Amino acid sequence: MLEKTDILVIGAGPGGLACATLLAQQGAKVVLVERKARIGPKVCAGGITWGGLIKHVSAELIERGFPQQHVVTRLQRVVVTETNPIVATISRERLGQWMAEQARAAGVTVLTRTRVLALEKHRAVLETAGKSRRTLNFNHLVGADGSNSMVRRFLGLPTTAMGLGLNCMLPGRFSQMEWHLHTRLFGYGYGWIFPHAEEVSIGAYGDVNNLSARVLKQRLLSWAAVQGFRIDPETIRAGLVNFDYRGVRFDRTWLVGDAAGLASGLTGEGIYPALVSGQAVARMILDPNSPASELQGLVRKHHLHRRIVGLAARKRPFCGLMLEVLAVLLRMKILDFRTLEMAE
Ligand SMILES: Cc1cc2nc3c(=O)[nH]c(=O)nc-3n(C[C@H](O)[C@H](O)[C@H](O)COP(=O)(O)OP(=O)(O)OC[C@H]3O[C@@H](n4cnc5c(N)ncnc54)[C@H](O)[C@@H]3O)c2cc1C
Repeated sequence: MLEKTDILVIGAGPGGLACATLLAQQGAKVVLVERKARIGPKVCAGGITWGGLIKHVSAELIERGFPQQHVVTRLQRVVVTETNPIVATISRERLGQWMAEQARAAGVTVLTRTRVLALEKHRAVLETAGKSRRTLNFNHLVGADGSNSMVRRFLGLPTTAMGLGLNCMLPGRFSQMEWHLHTRLFGYGYGWIFPHAEEVSIGAYGDVNNLSARVLKQRLLSWAAVQGFRIDPETIRAGLVNFDYRGVRFDRTWLVGDAAGLASGLTGEGIYPALVSGQAVARMILDPNSPASELQGLVRKHHLHRRIVGLAARKRPFCGLMLEVLAVLLRMKILDFRTLEMAE
């Protein structure tokens, strides 16, 4: 059966859902395909930066908000305090379900358990579990299919800048949100403790070029034990964070979120970049002259974070010192914690 749509979006993460919803709200015919059976679940700490994201997600989705951030280095513990939460936590499952509801309400055809078997310039072969294959023709293709993007590979774009995140959810209610910057353990990455409503996300982020998954996992386990968390190694989940940004538009093929490499190389923050780029790409498809100022701001922040990561990689022996200086600047309020966020 040959079918047609204006826009095919591959991947129902925050980037694909945001893009598809806005397009459909403006009257475009959109098909969104997701290989998983359920939209939402993703290896993620669920931390969202308040300044940028509260404009994009419903306040009902917030599990916990943290006006205090604890930054721990080898020599210092700094507490940054503001009136409003600086970072909040959400459940990725609830965010995905909430966004999927909006997409369906806008008229997006959402196909779960659907894989893209083959891609050509204007058509894709799709297979939905338990159903026959179908060929779908489209005018525009949006790759919102995450860090290991098939659409990015189809475009022939290399990916050389990649972070690795390891996450584990433990039951319990914890009070403090903590960032542990220890170069000997995580290079210029960090270990985190992000409390959710009834559980806590414990994890570590590092650059795959400097730390293998095996080494990062061992270090996460030993660091977590020192923090008083006993982690079953089998419950640790890994995910890649692509921060090799090379643009969003490639003729009529578009990339958003992790597929575009828009996550922060410094912190791994990628939910906000996915939402902003998804919406910006939708606007550009609808009107090529759309100003996309929020996307430009995001790209500026992305470059800044990437430059910091590049500097840390080149000056590795001084990395510990740089992190101590960072903590001092935060303590003295010379550096705003929000500089580390992807929102401007
Ligand atoms: C351990 C870890 C912790 C993290 N913590 C945070 C955090 O606290 N805060 C934050 O902001 N970011 C965090 N991130 C990053 C964040 O998860 C991502 O940047 C964000 O999910 C990117 O959204 P996206 O829509 O671009 O892609 P994704 O959320 O990855 O969505 C892509 C979707 O595409 C689907 N898909 C892929 N290929 C296909 C295909 N061929 N056909 C159909 N469907 C396909 C996938 O199943 C998936 O649902 C973390 C990442 C990791 C690994």
